[in-house]
Amino acid sequence: MSIEEELVRQRGALLENIPVVTFHAEVEPAFQVVYVSPQLETLFAIPVATCKGADERLIELIHSDDRVRAREEVSAQLAQGDTYVVEFRLMTPNGPRWVRLHAGRVRSHEGEVRLHQGVIFDIGEHRAIEEALLAAKQEAERLSEAKTRFLSIISHELRTPLHAILGFGRVLERGAYGTLNERQLTYLDDLLQAGEHMRRLIDDLLDLQRISEGRDQMHLQAQPLAPLVRDSLRVIRALAAERGQALVESVPEELPEVVVDARALVQIVTNLVTNAIKYTSSGGRIELRARAAGAQVVVEVEDDGAGIAPEDQSRIFEYFSQVDERVPHRLRGSGLGLALTRALVERQGGAIALDSKPGRGSIFRFTLPAAAHAASQPDAAGGLS
Ligand code: ADP
Repeated sequence: MSIEEELVRQRGALLENIPVVTFHAEVEPAFQVVYVSPQLETLFAIPVATCKGADERLIELIHSDDRVRAREEVSAQLAQGDTYVVEFRLMTPNGPRWVRLHAGRVRSHEGEVRLHQGVIFDIGEHRAIEEALLAAKQEAERLSEAKTRFLSIISHELRTPLHAILGFGRVLERGAYGTLNERQLTYLDDLLQAGEHMRRLIDDLLDLQRISEGRDQMHLQAQPLAPLVRDSLRVIRALAAERGQALVESVPEELPEVVVDARALVQIVTNLVTNAIKYTSSGGRIELRARAAGAQVVVEVEDDGAGIAPEDQSRIFEYFSQVDERVPHRLRGSGLGLALTRALVERQGGAIALDSKPGRGSIFRFTLPAAAHAASQPDAAGGLS
């Protein structure tokens, strides 16, 4: 045997040892199989003899739901070139099995199509994983929509009776129907505080839904950042002072203007700084600073408080994720602040991230589009308004 013949023989042996089916088919008469490798039998339990000969029998090996599509896909690819790839269910004696067929036309020197040749391999497991992932994703989306709908309904339903509770509570507190004794007043005060907490929670939930669904009205406008930050801090300074904390603000006046909704920006800064105050012990230090960075302005709120454990860092931006149960009840929020903050930052075209080490403090960093850049790229900001 010549060395070439030996090589051909070995190549044949190699092909019969890998888990793919190889085949050759004539063009005339249409797709008459002249060779199909024995793996058809070992991998799919289909006798090789089944495929030899007529076209119709080959068609029957394809699941009836896939036949028209597979034929159309092959025709479309052959209109563009000589190769084609198609996936379909192969009808095996053990039931349908997903396969991928890679094949092509083989031409003579003169360019005449002589044969089709190709390989078929089993993608059953791959398809099963893909289908399971798709089903899991659809289920997650369905649950997320159901959760949003549920929250929306209970928020609206709770608001009406709550207004009545708070309203009548205040009437009693004013003494409109008789003077209350000290104990009655204390209980009434607790009742009103709890009611107020619930009202804030419901309002935050409704806000969060409006923002996430893009139903809120954003008035994006180029404006200097420093006055907005100063406005936000004015109210909160008292809280920091009460806790003996230093609240330092360093926002340079010469920063480029930012394209923001003033109300949303005040809410973002208020949420982040209030958190920094709440989660930092007395005597701590909180700093708010800003700098320009290319097309953006970066704002950082840093504290030297408790910090956040690495495993909690990604979930604190989700609804109702309260990590620290030691915070005094009076300061406890709704667990929605950071979810709301992130939604507001993103609605203005920015992003928010956290850098924190437990015991050393946290830096919440968010970006805002800078005005000069936003003006030269109207689409970037236009889509948000
Ligand atoms: P909350 O209303 O509980 O403050 P947030 O969504 O604002 O809700 O914050 C979620 C959780 O993230 C908080 O309960 C707290 O555990 C943690 N957290 C937020 N900001 C800080 C911070 N600056 N330092 C430490 N922990 C923080």
